[in-house]
Amino acid sequence: MTERRHDLYLLTPGPLTVAPEVKREMLADRSPNAEPHSALTAMVRDYMLELCNGRGTHECVPIQGSATYAIEAAFHAFVPRDGKLLVIQNGFYGMRLREIAEGIGLAVTALEFPMLPLPTGTDIEAALAADPAITHIVLCHVDTGTGIRNPVEEIAAVASRRGVGVLVDAVASFGTFPLDAAALDLTAIMISPNKGLEGVPGIGIVVAKRSELEEAKGRSPSVVLDLHAQWRFLEEKGNQWRWTPPTHVIGALGKAIERHRAEGGAAPRLARYRANWRRLVDGMRQRGFATLLPDEAAAPIIATFHDPADPAYDFRKFYLAMEKRGFIIFPGRLTAAGTFRIGLMGDLVESDITLILEAIDESLAELGVASFAPRDEGASAPAAA
Ligand SMILES: *Cc1c(COP(=O)(O)O)cnc(C)c1O
Repeated sequence: MTERRHDLYLLTPGPLTVAPEVKREMLADRSPNAEPHSALTAMVRDYMLELCNGRGTHECVPIQGSATYAIEAAFHAFVPRDGKLLVIQNGFYGMRLREIAEGIGLAVTALEFPMLPLPTGTDIEAALAADPAITHIVLCHVDTGTGIRNPVEEIAAVASRRGVGVLVDAVASFGTFPLDAAALDLTAIMISPNKGLEGVPGIGIVVAKRSELEEAKGRSPSVVLDLHAQWRFLEEKGNQWRWTPPTHVIGALGKAIERHRAEGGAAPRLARYRANWRRLVDGMRQRGFATLLPDEAAAPIIATFHDPADPAYDFRKFYLAMEKRGFIIFPGRLTAAGTFRIGLMGDLVESDITLILEAIDESLAELGVASFAPRDEGASAPAAA
């Protein structure tokens, strides 16, 4: 029997399964005004900068809320009211970026792409040349709606040549995939504590270029999402927070960072996710499932599979059968209909993948699904993606 390491496996793009020792940190009451909590906040802020090579050029500003709050706060701070934001939209979270930007009344141009091929520097060059009013670009690093990873280095190089700022939704990728804030001269990186960092949800984090953060003074029409004010408060009050901070969440993140360091940082974490992803994708293919993406385009933090064509298959029933066994899976997004997703971020090791595959076998047997093959035979071939 394979050891079951968690009661409930959250195989979703967040919240995700976290280690027991991270959860245990939340049992402590912490005074937000006392030194230990300020020291923890300082450590968290510094580690974010360390992970993206931002020490000296960038600042880290955590904010209460989920990662989406950090995205909206960054839009308020960095895109001036007379500026214009180019949204690279090639997946569900790209669509979400556009909704947020439009929702807060920014001038927006959306550059829509199919899921594949990925946008190139040349595409972005052309879009910037066509509209000189564009001051900033935003894109997802890894779009967890499908699992694609955008070529942020190539796009940032084009933007930098044209003096256009780049904001990166690295919510799903941070702490796993490399991202160099200084080398790419990024305006802002938006981060979650609860994806690759394996903490719990409750704050959003922005790493921002210091010079642009200084210019953001007085720009935000929101009080609570004012990144500049949040930054100044943290700086002036010795890492105390404006308003009540989620002390339990920050405590858990402190432990999650300890674990991240102990694992060896981002590269070994990505290697663990990749090994788990490989095992899952291979196991699913042996059963007849097909992935949405060809392997070379897939970020190994989430795997998206086509629904089986077998008439006995029904996602809702499959979901419930999996839930009953303690595994939460996720439907496909609008941008990838007819698929379901299995998230691989979180405290998962290879033996957990064995359990996941067993639960899938049992669940689909319960539904009476005999064949796991998708409707479209060529579904996981690059040409069909
Ligand atoms: C999860 C996710 C978000 C949203 O984060 P929340 O914490 O739910 O607000 C944004 N972008 C990407 C790419 C994500 O994976």
